[in-house]
Amino acid sequence: MSPTLLQTAAMHLKRAVPLMLKHSIPTTPTNYALWYTYVGEQNPTLNQKLDTIISQYSTCPPIDSEQLYRQFVADPTQLDVRNMRQNLDAMATELSQSLTDTRSDASTFQNRIKGHFDKLHRVEDEGFSVEQVLDLVRNFVKEADDIRSSTEYFTEQLARAQSEITSLRHRLEQTEKDMLFDALTSCLNRRAFDEDLAGLLAQSPQGTCLILLDIDHFKAFNDSYGHQLGDLVLKAVAKRVQEACRDGAKLYRVGGEEFGILVPGSQLMRVRQLAEAIRRSLEKLSVKDRRSGNIIDNITASFGVAQWQAKQSSTQLFEVADNLLYQAKNLGRNRVMPMAP
Ligand code: GH3
Ligand code: MG
Ligand code: MG
Repeated sequence: MSPTLLQTAAMHLKRAVPLMLKHSIPTTPTNYALWYTYVGEQNPTLNQKLDTIISQYSTCPPIDSEQLYRQFVADPTQLDVRNMRQNLDAMATELSQSLTDTRSDASTFQNRIKGHFDKLHRVEDEGFSVEQVLDLVRNFVKEADDIRSSTEYFTEQLARAQSEITSLRHRLEQTEKDMLFDALTSCLNRRAFDEDLAGLLAQSPQGTCLILLDIDHFKAFNDSYGHQLGDLVLKAVAKRVQEACRDGAKLYRVGGEEFGILVPGSQLMRVRQLAEAIRRSLEKLSVKDRRSGNIIDNITASFGVAQWQAKQSSTQLFEVADNLLYQAKNLGRNRVMPMAP
């Protein structure tokens, strides 16, 4: 049976932490990721370079760590964020376990000390000299102290690594979020759209509908009132459309002033009605620029609505909706295509 992700992560962790301590590598998130990759032996060139640096300096200077991290770990083409997050989740779980184990080791150890003292009392009763007994005690206390401080040190290191992993994990979560959401409108973005559409068509394509909408003469808002007010219009449109998306309909910003709505398992005419309702609610939208007092209340959009047909690819479905949107523009804008029956 192949090891689970958790087991693999734990295995790597158990090897990475001692190596980092051995080479006096500070447990920063960057180093953590670097050494985790190192023990995972995912990249022979990285391991070779790191080995050379360690043999030269007996540690890895921060500047080299940073460079190796960028070259081998953080390269966006190689970094599979999701996979790494899963690993981190598993590592964080394993670390919590290690900490609990270390703490319970410490209490077992205290019990052992007590046991030894009891034994020493007996030895004394049985006729050892006081000096001999004191020697034993001294040795034992020294040994106990050594073990205790190394346990404390290790616990401290683990606790620090754990908090660093947590923060790294949060950063990765944020990156993952940034990858799927549009910063201006907070809608899901084109990448999320492509992923979700592909997912829908792979799992339950039947009845998948797509609405594409494009704001009419949007360039004119920018030209007349400036880009900033243009941005406000985009945000207001996104918000208004979002409010209309219920029953599994999901909104995405698929282009500059173009939005897509995916509706799983529905009927074309119902989705057409949804587009019509959105079109009417956008007609009523007005956006005010507080600074200049300018009000934009002539916002309209054109719509193309399509339903997935057997054997259609996601690109083909998109093209059908896009062509309908184009027709809506040509017919004078502010309308939904296909026309109502
Ligand atoms: P049509 O009715 O044919 O769609 O005309 P249009 O003016 O909306 O279309 P066109 O494609 O000519 O112009 C789209 C404009 O949208 C051009 C671009 O500057 C603007 N735009 C795209 N993204 C943004 C953005 O994030 N903010 C702002 N303010 N403008 C944007
Ligand atoms: Mg437009
Ligand atoms: Mg456009």
